[in-house]
Amino acid sequence: MTAIPLPYTDEPDTRGFWQAAREGRLVVQCCTACGHRQFPPHPFCENCAHAETEWVETPGRGNIWSFGVAHGPSLPGLQDVVPYPMIVVELDEHPHIRMVGSLVTGPDAPINSVPAGDIRIGLPVEVTFAAVSDDVTLPRWMPRRSEGRKP
Ligand SMILES: [Zn+2]
Repeated sequence: MTAIPLPYTDEPDTRGFWQAAREGRLVVQCCTACGHRQFPPHPFCENCAHAETEWVETPGRGNIWSFGVAHGPSLPGLQDVVPYPMIVVELDEHPHIRMVGSLVTGPDAPINSVPAGDIRIGLPVEVTFAAVSDDVTLPRWMPRRSEGRKP
């Protein structure tokens, strides 16, 4: 089986995000001047253009804002797991921030573990983390256990 392509985790603008993921924390950028939170990362604040930001932890909870289902392998290494969903998560704490990711049933579950028919807009989700290599831990999303699942 071909390995999936992995993100670069040592770029200046994203290094802190990947380090936090390895520690099991979901972070977003926070402007040190105005406090604006942003993701994906930028080299400056998208609100006030200040050049310094820091990483702040989020609770890692949100809801599905949009989703799609890949029926063909879009990347090498994914031919054995199609179809699989990709979701866009709107964070509860920062609703202007949306993150793209996989929806899974648990931390070690494959990215096709949630059937497309079980996915709906607004489904509450929480972050989980999958260590896919020694250097790369990917944030993924799973339905919140206490709410929102179909009977
Ligand atoms: Zn700012």
